[in-house]
Amino acid sequence: MKGFAMMCIGKTAWINKERPIIGPFDALVEPLALAPCTSDIHTVYSGAIGERTNMILGHEAVGRVVEVGSEVRDFKKGDRVVVPAITPEWRTTAIQEGVPAQHSEGMLTGWKFSNIKDGVFGEFFHVNDADMNLAILPESISLEQGLMMCDMMTTGFHGVEMANVQFGSTVAVIGIGPVGLMAVAGAALRGAGRIFAVGSRPTCVKIAKEYGATDIVNYKQGSIVTQILEATKNHGVDHVIIAGGDNSVLGDAVTMLKPGGVIGNINYFGEGDSLPIPRLAWGCGMAHKYIHSGLCPGGRVRMERMIALVKYGRVDPAKMVTHRLSGLEGVEKGLEMMHSKDADVIKPITII
Ligand code: NDP
Ligand code: ZN
Repeated sequence: MKGFAMMCIGKTAWINKERPIIGPFDALVEPLALAPCTSDIHTVYSGAIGERTNMILGHEAVGRVVEVGSEVRDFKKGDRVVVPAITPEWRTTAIQEGVPAQHSEGMLTGWKFSNIKDGVFGEFFHVNDADMNLAILPESISLEQGLMMCDMMTTGFHGVEMANVQFGSTVAVIGIGPVGLMAVAGAALRGAGRIFAVGSRPTCVKIAKEYGATDIVNYKQGSIVTQILEATKNHGVDHVIIAGGDNSVLGDAVTMLKPGGVIGNINYFGEGDSLPIPRLAWGCGMAHKYIHSGLCPGGRVRMERMIALVKYGRVDPAKMVTHRLSGLEGVEKGLEMMHSKDADVIKPITII
């Protein structure tokens, strides 16, 4: 079968591989729609997860089940499914330690596609533990909406969960690419009052407002800390969700946070050995300013909850789709678009 792969750090190519073989709990799925992620760019071009060779890329897919293992109960050939980016091994004891995305094989190993096995940018892909990881895509939900759930929606919403957004509280979302846009939408759903959205591109700003941002802060027009402290009469914000930016944004988040406030970080920090936290702004460690961080939750129940939010009209994640390509070949162009990230690109997708 054909797949679009990372050959080594900095190099991609189309390759041929054997169709994956499934075990008794697994499924073989063919993609119906695919999207590249900023994480694919970090994987290929920054070596974010280390060297990988001949590894098929991609972890955002909706697909159709082609084959299931003998122990799979709830899915059958022909089912349309949402495939989460994170597919933990649910039959491990480490899962009972409470963080399924980070289990026995080590940190981040609930993230399998395009990390520790071939990803979804192929004619077929393997899904471990199908009953626990797949979710049926209802007829009423479009492929585009389903595709935005596997990573963008679950990740953005996880930022909101980790930041523990409350009714009427004030939130800053740093970065309004697709992940941050979903954090804005999630903060609004959770009942936030004022929502600052930090970004610069007008395409993203427009969607941020549609998802509930009340204030836009352009990080290219001065310090975001100064702008947000000025706008809040020096009170700062109750929650910060970090979904973009360089190493300095963690310090910014700590500085603009009120005592008792919470940071939910979903950003990938790609540089250096450590991240600076401003000592005084952190109350010399005693300000009750909390920092949470994590990988997007995957698994079936999580996807079914994302589906429920779309099905009952709470949010439309397909607003983020700016470019529609066609065929499996579209992933190559889509990846290029994510790499160059022109002003009008939020999320390119390809329909197979
Ligand atoms: P994008 O590149 O599309 O968006 C990044 C956003 O950050 C843009 O709004 C950009 O502004 C803004 N930004 C860039 N530099 C700064 C800065 N110095 N200060 C403030 N804002 C800045 O990324 P995605 O939305 O696709 O992904 C966001 C992050 O989430 C990435 O690091 C990605 O790897 C990570 N990620 C994490 C996952 C997880 O499980 N935790 C899952 C998926 C992604 P503009 O472009 O408008 O100038
Ligand atoms: Zn991703």
